[in-house]
Amino acid sequence: MNNWLAQFVLWRTLLLGLLTLLFAPSIWAVDTVILDDGVDQWMSTAATQELLRDPDDTLRIDDILQGNQPFIPAWQDVVNLGNTTDSVWLHVPLRNDSRERTDSHWILELAYARLARVDIFLVQNGAIVQQARIGYAQPISSRAIKHHFFAQPLMLQPGQQYDLYLNVMRKGGGIQIPLRLYRPDRFSEHMATSNHIYGLYFGIMFAMLVYNSFLLVSVGHRAYFYYILHIAGTFCTFQVLYGYAFLHWWPETPVINEYGIQITTLLTGMAGLLFVRHYIDLRRYQAWMNQAINVMLVIGTLLVAARLLGSHHLIPQTGSYIGVSAILMLTIATLCWRQGSRTAGYFLLAWTMFLTGASMHLLTMAGVLPTNNVTTFAVIMGSALEVLLLSLGLADRINHERRARYLALQEKHDAIMGLKAAEERLIERAMHSATTGLPNRAYLRSTLETLFQNNDAPKALLLLSLDNFHEFNKTLGHHNGDKILRLVANHIEQTVKQQDHVIPIEADWRRTHHTACIEGVTFALLLKHTDTEAIDTFGRSLLQSLEQPFEFQNLTLDISASIGIALCPEHGDTTEELLRNAHIALEMAYQNGDNIAFYAREIDPYNARRLSLLAELREAIAKDQLQLYLQPQVDLQTQKIVGAEVLIRWQHPEHGFIPPAEFIPLAERTGVIHPLTLWVCRKSFEISQQLKQAGHDLMLSINISARNLQTAGFAEQITRFAKDTGVRLDYITMELTETAVMIDQDDALRVMSELASVGIHLSIDDFGTGYSSLSYLKKLPVDEIKIDRSFIKDMLTNSDDHVIVHTTLSMGHNLGLKVVAEGIEDAPTLDRLRSMGCDAAQGYHIAKPMPAGEFVDWLEGKDKEIDASVHLSGI
Ligand code: C2E
Ligand code: CA
Ligand code: CA
Repeated sequence: MNNWLAQFVLWRTLLLGLLTLLFAPSIWAVDTVILDDGVDQWMSTAATQELLRDPDDTLRIDDILQGNQPFIPAWQDVVNLGNTTDSVWLHVPLRNDSRERTDSHWILELAYARLARVDIFLVQNGAIVQQARIGYAQPISSRAIKHHFFAQPLMLQPGQQYDLYLNVMRKGGGIQIPLRLYRPDRFSEHMATSNHIYGLYFGIMFAMLVYNSFLLVSVGHRAYFYYILHIAGTFCTFQVLYGYAFLHWWPETPVINEYGIQITTLLTGMAGLLFVRHYIDLRRYQAWMNQAINVMLVIGTLLVAARLLGSHHLIPQTGSYIGVSAILMLTIATLCWRQGSRTAGYFLLAWTMFLTGASMHLLTMAGVLPTNNVTTFAVIMGSALEVLLLSLGLADRINHERRARYLALQEKHDAIMGLKAAEERLIERAMHSATTGLPNRAYLRSTLETLFQNNDAPKALLLLSLDNFHEFNKTLGHHNGDKILRLVANHIEQTVKQQDHVIPIEADWRRTHHTACIEGVTFALLLKHTDTEAIDTFGRSLLQSLEQPFEFQNLTLDISASIGIALCPEHGDTTEELLRNAHIALEMAYQNGDNIAFYAREIDPYNARRLSLLAELREAIAKDQLQLYLQPQVDLQTQKIVGAEVLIRWQHPEHGFIPPAEFIPLAERTGVIHPLTLWVCRKSFEISQQLKQAGHDLMLSINISARNLQTAGFAEQITRFAKDTGVRLDYITMELTETAVMIDQDDALRVMSELASVGIHLSIDDFGTGYSSLSYLKKLPVDEIKIDRSFIKDMLTNSDDHVIVHTTLSMGHNLGLKVVAEGIEDAPTLDRLRSMGCDAAQGYHIAKPMPAGEFVDWLEGKDKEIDASVHLSGI
């Protein structure tokens, strides 16, 4: 940089020297300005002025008047010397040739405020007739005319010849000498126009300042703050540049002028950078942009400090700073604009306005463009347009952001409402029979629990089941079977709802139901205090009302039913017991041919078998006679087998295969579930180790009962087993039903947290059938949900089920959970689940549960199949 500068100075000096030789005084002659009657305003031209540079500032007017100084042609209409510390002499010969206009008053204007010293000498016949010192180093009060630029009255007598000498000096910074002469009335006109235009400009800027301050207060957006800084900076810079600041703000303190322009320019530049950052909101774009602005802000601060503390003028540095800042802002704005920022587009447009104005100004100064009202005021017009456009852009951006924020809020709101609706639907579905819409078994249970808690137990639980209903399904099809079931349900509800000893099972502001549909074709009623005989009569009349012929699509249907009744408290004083015994009574009713039966303990066939089964189950656990089966789970994205669910099997020596659905509830009620679960866990850990040794890193899912969560030390026991077998607990998932985690929420949460803390994954089994709220599930350390197979079974034909599967998937994923589907029995269901984004699947279609020993063989066969690139969905 310095080198370049040095070379430039050298060449310029050489060139000037050459020119000096060429145009030595003998050859060179300057034209005289003729002011005749037709002239009331004159502007400097190249031909009428010559100049002399005095780098050391040693020449005095006497030296000049000697007449042998090497003046050279000015070359320019408006002298523009760029940055220089030279003292400059300008010579203009003048003659007042007016004959009719005898007034000798003229006003000399120097339309450039940034000159520190301006000495004016009017010379006639080698003698000084008028002399004045203006320039910004003098207080305003010493001036003959208080003009924001410089103006000096001259007395030019008609018919007389003068030499006008100006000596101009700035100690660094740009020197321009736009000279004009006016007759007084013309000068007043000129002042009026020019003041109007500048006034308009400053007025616009001031109005924008006030307007945007109001916006800042009401909108409170930071971008407005920087915008105001930017306008204020521009306002001050132009006030200083055009001399208004000196004239109005510090007229008697000329020393401020030495600092004014550089400080205001630097601060305006910095405000511009800060403004760009917030205006375009650079956080959204590349990081280097912000960093570059930070660097420039630091440099700007250093320059301001250097100028305030030091005596150096730092004009070139300030110029470069503004240049680099402008290029940086333009680059950033262009890049952001190309990346789609509308605001950056506004900024570019605004800046183009300003730069066009500034270039026109510079080109005029350089003499390329003529000086007229357009070119003279180009900068301030550009600047005003810039400020107006930026204002528009800012309003546009804030508007845009508001709209975006509003839309985002609305979206969030919709999503929450959607979730709520889905949750309500799930609960509704979980608590009602899909076919009849009546409350289901879970609902009946919760109603019974509430009644027991309120000491308001019913007198009897009555179960009514339709006989041979499957005949309708077979002959008329399931679709019609469902319709008939709805008819019957409606009939029962209508018949019983008028009877005041029938207790409503569901009663809220939306609906009241006295009948529950607890499974397929079995209905339940709760009866109030009344005697056995009355209950019997009621039951029989209900049966009779059903026996009257049912009209269905021009068919007359014969419906028959059986009724089982359990009394409270005689046959049970808990929900479970009442339900179980009413079921047994129903079975008795089938058998005794009377179609109605009360429970009788003596003839309960299950009592005896249950007791012996329990004893045998304990023994089977102790003797290792139970077996574990594995059912694989496939990852739907990679098609790989990633895990297996462990399912217990009991092959009884006498009764044969006993399904877990029969003995697990028994075990749960009697506490046998504890040794059973521990046995399953220990065996599963062994299997996990064996699988690992065979090279299969699979996740094993173990079913855990609600009761296990109420046992102190369950988690410790599991950890101990893990240590014994060496199994890694993060390869173990424990499946819990929704109801299990709801029963005793505090205990469940504590045990689940303990299990999770040792690395065990937790899964909510049979999701959708329980009564858990999603908001509660969110609080649990759960990793996975397993959609119940009752939803999967018909999801391709039943749109309700499809919606439930869909919402469960999206809600699960929203909560960051893995979603597994169970009970997949065919390829289309598997394909649909895959396309819906389900993570993993389990079901007969992939494989039935198989003994642990066969599982490895099956896996290896599968591997081969995959090697032969057989698609898994084609099994
Ligand atoms: P679950 O946890 O829902 O287990 C899945 C049941 O669905 C298993 O019945 C499995 O054989 C069956 N299944 C799998 N794929 C299909 C399919 O594609 N279609 C159909 N229709 N069924 C399929 P399983 O083995 O009879 O088990 C019944 C329930 O017994 C289990 O339901 C679970 O709640 C309980 N259970 C099984 N083993 C254990 C155990 O070790 N401990 C505990 N506490 N409960 C167990
Ligand atoms: Ca399970
Ligand atoms: Ca399940």
